Amino acid sequence: MNVIDGKQLAATVRQEVAQGVAALVAEGAESPGLATVLVGSDPASEVYVRNKRRLSLEAGMRDLHHWLPEDVTQSEAIALIDELAEDQRVSGILIQLPLPPHLDAASLIDRIPTGKDVDGLTVRSAGQLAQRDRGLRPCTPAGVIRILEHVGVEIEGAHAVVVGRSILVGGPMAQLLLERNATVTVCHSRSRDLPRLCREADILIAAAGVPTLLDRSFVKDGAVVVDVGIHRTEHGLVGDVDFSDVSEVASAITPVPGGVGPMTIAMLLVNTLQAAELAHRTSRAG
Ligand code: NAP
Repeated sequence: MNVIDGKQLAATVRQEVAQGVAALVAEGAESPGLATVLVGSDPASEVYVRNKRRLSLEAGMRDLHHWLPEDVTQSEAIALIDELAEDQRVSGILIQLPLPPHLDAASLIDRIPTGKDVDGLTVRSAGQLAQRDRGLRPCTPAGVIRILEHVGVEIEGAHAVVVGRSILVGGPMAQLLLERNATVTVCHSRSRDLPRLCREADILIAAAGVPTLLDRSFVKDGAVVVDVGIHRTEHGLVGDVDFSDVSEVASAITPVPGGVGPMTIAMLLVNTLQAAELAHRTSRAG
């Protein structure tokens, strides 16, 4: 059984991004600028944003961070997003979620121009994915695809089962697998007989947000299991998969921590570079 080292793979991807940034700058472009937007002082969000900023700097990008107070109004937040949308130095805009409940997150996200939507979460980016058009893909599912490619899993023709259908993870995950010609089953909280559905999977993606929901009774012998879940418990971080139990039957499995998590930030940097490359090419063509 292969425990997939997402941390190592993420470091490799970030190195590739750093090389891409250097090549872009050598062509005469400004280095890509990542504008992270943090509202308030949620400790977990602060840690995520700090890591994104640090790793973007390490990849040679510019850190264009903005912090807004917890009680910021919708129109003040809109003003900032619109300013970043116009700013030529900004290649990508990332609004750290969740936002305080008084803000309308969906309408703020939708003000991000498609070319700067490095989280791939606007309606237009979702439309591009649905239409199998080019575009920036949501980071976590894109990271899962990169993991599967790295492990050498044949996606085409495989039966992939995705547990979860959220806009952030499960939904785009299913579409990315379909785009690569997997046969995809999407399960959710109303699915009947989840263990039976999961046991059909050659590739099983757990994104339900329920700690250790999936044990070996959900897994076919030799399946590849990717665990997107992250839960802080008194025993440390755990995923949606009972790792030690499922390790006994899976051919490959991602651990938590050290699996999908590090890949999410790496794919954010991939998207930021891609956005900057496209902006540079467009400005040269114009
Ligand atoms: P979410 O918005 O809560 O969605 C969870 C999905 O799972 C929903 O579609 C829900 O079904 C389904 N579900 C819930 N309980 C289920 C059950 N018992 N059986 C089958 N399906 C069930 O969560 P999310 O944002 O997609 O995140 C999922 C997990 O990934 C969370 O643990 C989150 O922390 C983690 N995550 C990790 C990363 C990373 O970088 N590693 C990034 C993002 C999220 P319904 O649609 O029917 O409600």
